[in-house]
Amino acid sequence: MKYKVAILGATGMVGQRFVQLLSNHPWFKISSLAASEKRVGKKYGEEMSPLFPFSVPERIANIELSLMKPKNIDADIVFSALPSDVAKKIEPEFAKEGFVVASNASAYRLENDVPLVIPEVNPDHLDLIEVQKRNREWDGFIVTNPNCTTIMLTLTLKPLMKLGLKEVKVASMQAVSGAGYPGVPSLNIIDNVIPFIKGEEEKVQTETLKLLGKIEENRIRYANIKISASCHRVPVIDGHTEAVWAEFKEKISIEDVINAFESFKSLDLPTSPDKVIVVRKEADRPQPRLDRNVGNGMSVVVGRIRKDDDKSIKYIVLGHNTIRGAAGASILNAELMVKKKLI
Ligand code: NAP
Repeated sequence: MKYKVAILGATGMVGQRFVQLLSNHPWFKISSLAASEKRVGKKYGEEMSPLFPFSVPERIANIELSLMKPKNIDADIVFSALPSDVAKKIEPEFAKEGFVVASNASAYRLENDVPLVIPEVNPDHLDLIEVQKRNREWDGFIVTNPNCTTIMLTLTLKPLMKLGLKEVKVASMQAVSGAGYPGVPSLNIIDNVIPFIKGEEEKVQTETLKLLGKIEENRIRYANIKISASCHRVPVIDGHTEAVWAEFKEKISIEDVINAFESFKSLDLPTSPDKVIVVRKEADRPQPRLDRNVGNGMSVVVGRIRKDDDKSIKYIVLGHNTIRGAAGASILNAELMVKKKLI
C-alpha cells in the first residue's frame, strides 16, 4: 500500500516538479492537490501552465484542486511548495491536525525545534521531531529542506568537514527557475546578470551552519566554520552553479578532496542517485545545460578542483535547483522518514 500525499502550491515551479517526481513513485501516491483559492474546485490539468516538458498523467490532471484546509485534504504526507509568507500560516494548521508536513519554504527552517535536513548530511536531526511535537503539542510535525543554493553547497561541504574545514566563500550563479513562476521579468534577466537575490546570502550563510551542526540537548549547535556568500541571478533556466573557495586548518591535497567527494555515500532510498557527488575532470565542467540532470537531477556535479594555496582549494559545484534543490529534496526527506518509521 502506498502513502497518500498532497501537494500544496501544486501549480508553481516547485509544485509541478513534485507532480512529476511523485506521479510514478513506488511509495507515494498523489491524492490531493491545492493552489491559491481562485482555483478551488477546478481540475489541475486545466489550471497549471506547464513550465517544463512533462505530460501530467490523466488521473492527476483530473484531480480537482482542494481548499487548503486540513479537513479538505486527504493525505498522510503534505508536501509544501508555498511562498514563505503563506507557508508560515498554513503549515502549522496541518501539523496541528496530525499531518506530516515536508516543506520547501523558508518559514520554519531556522526554528530551534524544526529539523532542517538533507538526508545524506544530517539524518539524525530528525530527532527534533519529538521535541517539536512536545513543545507545540501537535499531533503532526514540520520537517524542512534547505534553500536550493544551500543544498548544493552543503552536500559538498559535509565530506570536507572531516578534513578540517575552517572557512568557505561561495559565489552563486542561480537559474531563473529559482525565483518561481513567473519569477524574474524577461526584460530584467535576458542579456544580463543581477548581482542581488533578496535574503539569499543570509540563507546560505545560516542554513549551512545548522545543517552541519550537531544535536545537543534537544537543539542544534551550529557548526563552527565561517561562511561568506555572494549570490547572483543569471539567464539560465535550471541549474545553480556555485564557485566555492574552501580553507582548511591544515595542509590539504587535491587527492584527499577528490577521495572525500567520491566516497560520500548515497542512501538506499527510491529518489537517491547512485552517486551523490559526481566529480568531472574536464577543465570546462560542470555546465548547467550538460550536467543538471545527472542522477535524474539528484546528484551534484563538481569540477575544476584546484589548489588556492597549501591550506585552500577552490571548485565549482552545480545542481538542479528545482529537483535536488527543492521537490526532490523534500521527497528524499519523506522517504527517509518512512524508512526511519517516523511516518
Ligand atoms: P511559485 O512558482 O511562485 O509557486 C507558488 C505556488 O503557491 C503556486 O502553486 C501558487 O498557486 C501557490 N500560492 C501562491 N500564493 C498563494 C496563496 N496566497 N494561497 C495559496 N496558494 C498560493 O514558487 P516556487 O518557485 O514553486 O516556490 C515555492 C516555494 O519553494 C517557495 O517557498 C520557495 O522559496 C521555495 N523554493 C523554491 C525553489 C526553486 O528553485 N524555485 C527552490 C527551493 C525552495 P497559484 O498558481 O494558484 O497562484
